[in-house]
Amino acid sequence: TKFDSSHLPEGIERTFVMIKPDGVQRGLVGSIISRFEQKGLKLVGLKFMHASECLLRQHYAEHEGRPFFEPLVKYVQSGPVVAMVLEGPDAIKVGRLLIGTTDPSKSPPGTIRGDLALQTRKNLIHGSDSSESAQREIELWFGQRELVGWEKDSDKWLLERE
Ligand code: GDP
Ligand code: MG
Repeated sequence: TKFDSSHLPEGIERTFVMIKPDGVQRGLVGSIISRFEQKGLKLVGLKFMHASECLLRQHYAEHEGRPFFEPLVKYVQSGPVVAMVLEGPDAIKVGRLLIGTTDPSKSPPGTIRGDLALQTRKNLIHGSDSSESAQREIELWFGQRELVGWEKDSDKWLLERE
């Protein structure tokens, strides 16, 4: 595989997050990235792009054949998106917790979807749901040279165990 996560310290994961076109159109890019930053997750990849139909069909391959698949591909293709990779302890689970549940009307306050969105068809954001999907999605959306490993000074205040 293109990205080997074995170089990461124990318990440290990388997850793929994408702000969908409604988030960009509504001017929520800064606020959404802030939530991950404030939590302490580290940005290791970030780009602004128009996702191709081909990329989105691969990204959402698990949903192919479902009634919402075609509208979903059209929605996420309808404008530019922000793609990012975030790193930290349990980053995949923590990312999903910050994002909330798929249906924003059922997502609790405090979550991105719970605070900022109303319905599933426009739910602002995607986040990987397992280590397999994280690995697959990072490889799909980012090239090796687009990921930046770096030392974040504040990590010692966030990650230190004693
Ligand atoms: P997620 O992991 O929470 O984003 O949800 P899923 O992986 O189950 O679905 C992927 C995306 O498809 C969701 O974020 C929604 O944008 C869309 N989606 C999921 N379920 C439905 C649905 O029942 N109707 C519609 N219109 N879209 C859906
Ligand atoms: Mg999903």
